[in-house]
Amino acid sequence: MITGRSGGARLARAGAGITAVALLAACTAGQGTAPGTASAPTAGARPQPSPEELGPPGATPRPGEVGRIPSSGSLPPVISSIPTRRKVVFLTIDDGWEQDPGFVRQVRDQRIPITAFVMRDAVEAIGAPDPAGGQGRFVGRGKWGYVRLLRDAGVPIENHTLTHPNLRTLGYDAQKAELCGSSRLIGKEVGVRPTLFRPPFGTYNTDTQRAAKACGLQALLLWTATVQPGGKIAYQVPDKRLRPGDILLLHFRPNLARDFRILVSKIKRRGFELGNLDAYLKAALRRAK
Ligand SMILES: [Zn+2]
Repeated sequence: MITGRSGGARLARAGAGITAVALLAACTAGQGTAPGTASAPTAGARPQPSPEELGPPGATPRPGEVGRIPSSGSLPPVISSIPTRRKVVFLTIDDGWEQDPGFVRQVRDQRIPITAFVMRDAVEAIGAPDPAGGQGRFVGRGKWGYVRLLRDAGVPIENHTLTHPNLRTLGYDAQKAELCGSSRLIGKEVGVRPTLFRPPFGTYNTDTQRAAKACGLQALLLWTATVQPGGKIAYQVPDKRLRPGDILLLHFRPNLARDFRILVSKIKRRGFELGNLDAYLKAALRRAK
């Protein structure tokens, strides 16, 4: 079960979720606001309900829809897709180098369900990002303040280590230091301890699962496809199609807001909804213990 304090609160509100894609066409509020500010009400618009009134974004599972993810004994399971036949996919975004306020507005105003896996050295801009995606304009611009804006926009903030190592090259103690250190830091900076872990490069071993458990993390989350600059989807399956339950991986890269628009309209054109990952994980792990 995903039962972290915020996870529980998020999950408890999941029944009120609505699909983000349905709102895309209608919503352009906040386009002209200054970086990092709350969206100003549009002239003539009715007052918008608060995020609490709206509930978490994204499609939530129907009764009996979601299959069960098998348990990994006493260790946190490793999950790369959600077992469902519904045309629903899940968005996740990693690292945290490029900190474009336009992306936060997009996520908040369009009620896009997305889960962020942040890594300390990216958030704090210690070192330099991969140049993929072009020249960064907002690298390290807001640091943890940017992550708090994401949190306030309804984005769950999860664990992606402190320094982005290949965990398989590290022993248990060093892995645990990366995982627990990241969870502690996120708890301090963001106010909520992560419940999910994404291993850098998707590499892990049993020590990673043991460390995740020791740090209070309840699942390792992998992915089925990555989203490249330009919004292009790179599949990890031979038939190059979106599948129900796919987990897509994006990065905080330059031009993210534009690429994200392209991606979301592509997903919608193919008849898929965006799902609320917390709600689906809760359903998928319901009998896992
Ligand atoms: Zn990463």
